[in-house]
Amino acid sequence: MAFESLSDRLQESLKKIRGQSVLTDENMEDMLREIRLALLEADVNFNVVKEFIDHTREKAKGQNVVGSLKPGQLVVKIVHDELVELLGTEVSEINVDKNPTIIMMVGLQGSGKTTSAGKIAKYLRDKKGKKPLMVAADIYRPAAIEQLKTLGETLDVPVFAKGTEFSAEEIVTEALEYGRTNNNDVILIDTAGRLQIDERLMKELENLKAIANPDEILLVVDALAGQEIANVAQSFNDQLGVTGAVLTKLDGDSRGGGAISIRYMTGVPIKFIGTGEKLENIDLFYPDRMADRILG
Ligand code: GDP
Repeated sequence: MAFESLSDRLQESLKKIRGQSVLTDENMEDMLREIRLALLEADVNFNVVKEFIDHTREKAKGQNVVGSLKPGQLVVKIVHDELVELLGTEVSEINVDKNPTIIMMVGLQGSGKTTSAGKIAKYLRDKKGKKPLMVAADIYRPAAIEQLKTLGETLDVPVFAKGTEFSAEEIVTEALEYGRTNNNDVILIDTAGRLQIDERLMKELENLKAIANPDEILLVVDALAGQEIANVAQSFNDQLGVTGAVLTKLDGDSRGGGAISIRYMTGVPIKFIGTGEKLENIDLFYPDRMADRILG
């Protein structure tokens, strides 16, 4: 990894023990303290940080300083490798082999669910040659339905919408039928979000899951939500069993520690990241890049 990209604080701490040829308990604790702060600053969940640091300490203890690596660099390398391993090591693509592939987008209101549905529809059409249909199943917010319709017009992707007087269950049932007759090989269902997790929302999502039998349930999470991300990821996963996550708003100030919380709480891969408001601002998730970013 590029050690130059580390935060000032980590750089300083590396400098302090530069020249020392052995990794002592003392200088290792100094390093681990800085790394702990860097992870907390990056909004990695604090329970996760604690366990992670303990694990890293164990791992680092048995290692000799080898080759050209200084002790500090060795610890950073161990931390980096551990982060990559936690984040999933490999890029995890969305699975769109089935015809139709049904994708349910879930998450809290404002997380970027609708925008991400549009981005993924565009990605699958442009990069994978798919013919997506988007479904407006957020019956509680007329604005959300309009937003999806506008996205569809901008992208030239069809949107199935029926307004707010039908249940989400009815809309999804009809949309699946419509998609089949219209030869859509990907059906993206934009579900309702709430400002916080509630029972009714979860019950409705469970019903939609039973009706649509989705191949992917993608949890959309706002990277700026900080420590809260762990709770959100755990609740949605416990109730629905998500298959992947989309981490949005990584163009902002967030260092992306939420990615660790998501992985740690759910074990599912992060499949996409959102890097801006525009519809092309979407990227696959690269664990090594994220590890660099989290370390600052
Ligand atoms: P929803 O309520 O979950 O459907 O959220 P929206 O898709 O309506 O997004 C909420 C706000 O976040 C909108 O203003 C979006 O433009 C914005 N947004 C979504 N994804 C991103 C992203 O990756 N980066 C930035 N900067 N803004 C985003």
